[in-house]
Amino acid sequence: MKKKSTSIMVVDGSEVSRTIIARILRNEMENNMITTCGTGQEALSYLNGGQFDLITTALMLPDMDGLDLTRATRKSDTHHYTPIIVVSGDADDRLLREGFDAGVTDYFDKSLGYQAFVDFIKNFSRRNSGLVGRILYVEDSRTAALVTCSIMEKHGLKITHTTTAEKALEIIAESLEQDAEEEDQIDIVMTDFYLKGRLTGGDLLHAIRTRLHLSQQEMPVLVVTVTDNEERQVEVFHAGANDFVTKPIVEEVLIARIRSLLLIKQQFNALRYQAEEMKRIAATDSLTGVRSKRYLLDHGETFLKDKDNQPVWAILMDIDHFKKINDNLGHITGDHVLAALGELLNQSFPKNAMIIRFGGEEFAIIMPNVNGREIHAKAEVLRRKIELLKPMSVLITISIGMASTVDHPDTSLTTLLSYADKALYAAKERGRNRICIYAADGVSYSPMAENSDAETGTGQ
Ligand code: GH3
Ligand code: MG
Ligand code: MG
Ligand code: MG
Repeated sequence: MKKKSTSIMVVDGSEVSRTIIARILRNEMENNMITTCGTGQEALSYLNGGQFDLITTALMLPDMDGLDLTRATRKSDTHHYTPIIVVSGDADDRLLREGFDAGVTDYFDKSLGYQAFVDFIKNFSRRNSGLVGRILYVEDSRTAALVTCSIMEKHGLKITHTTTAEKALEIIAESLEQDAEEEDQIDIVMTDFYLKGRLTGGDLLHAIRTRLHLSQQEMPVLVVTVTDNEERQVEVFHAGANDFVTKPIVEEVLIARIRSLLLIKQQFNALRYQAEEMKRIAATDSLTGVRSKRYLLDHGETFLKDKDNQPVWAILMDIDHFKKINDNLGHITGDHVLAALGELLNQSFPKNAMIIRFGGEEFAIIMPNVNGREIHAKAEVLRRKIELLKPMSVLITISIGMASTVDHPDTSLTTLLSYADKALYAAKERGRNRICIYAADGVSYSPMAENSDAETGTGQ
């Protein structure tokens, strides 16, 4: 997800407090910039010179009252909306009475300690990091657009402006093709209800929901209407809007609405990211880094049947005398051996091959678009590479069994794998560290000259 650095100002008369707070914040929050000020005057001069996302101030400053600093800050153009947190020794009465009017966003009881204060700020900025995002703004009046764009940009929002619903749909479609990390990906749509083109804002909204199938969470839409006529409002919600604002636009209202829609979108992105991450975790074997058997079950059959993948070879390989490695050198060494083999397999096959941990020390590779001669050569190279690998200084060898859709057209993946397993069994029978193939006539044969049986499974 998009992240921008958070710029935080800490105003406190005590140098010790400033130093400690700044240090913990720098340690615990990635991506932030901390400015510390000892007096209200110093703070005001910094506020005039730069843009801050969050201000914290002590209630009592050497030269000024924290609430007066808050009032002065609220009057400035640049920090009219910046959250201000007042820190005081106790939950001061005056803060409760005057704080809201002065423009205090929240206050913190200093007696809870520095760490609690930093946790509070971390939490606060997480909850209030809503204003990062790109808005697709559809407005056919260029003058109106100019004013609204400058308001939104002032708050750090990125804007893509267009004047027609047709163009907006194109931009959304392009945006959907992109990765969620991309700079110009659209987060929310804000559209005028009346547009001069063939399609109105209502039509655009309808198309987003029904033609593009984008939910209110995936693409929040804010509609701009002229009147606050209730029938129109019902119509707007009916068409699938998340919310509306009326013209003339009031800055505070617009920004509050956008903030809540961006939060919805960011939560949607976070959920989608987590779901993808869970899928990736379920599809990967954690020890070896190759795909899990779950992945093979989910995708293997389709992969085998795909016309573009023909011919497909199923390869099963099993480490020879692996039990001896566990028995002689311990299970942990055995695990390291498996991890090293997984890494080698991932490096040895192209991206379009499925490399699977099929069982304990057994791997399956489903290799597309490859003829018999090529795959024999590849398997033989792999067999030799593994002999030379010596993970944890252990000599390991593997036996390989293979079967293909050339010899066995129209079989299921399970059947093809059972043929490969028969060939693997034959490779073990004939002395291990070799390759066998289960051909059309059911006979498994070794394509290479029989190898001399290497000594296997013993620690060197
Ligand atoms: P063969 O040459 O006939 O394949 O002999 P083998 O000893 O490899 O045979 P077998 O299949 O009977 O033994 C496989 C062993 O692999 C048994 C099991 O304890 C071990 N194993 C399975 N999964 C793991 C694992 O994740 N880590 C470790 N260290 N050992 C495992
Ligand atoms: Mg075995
Ligand atoms: Mg084995
Ligand atoms: Mg085995």
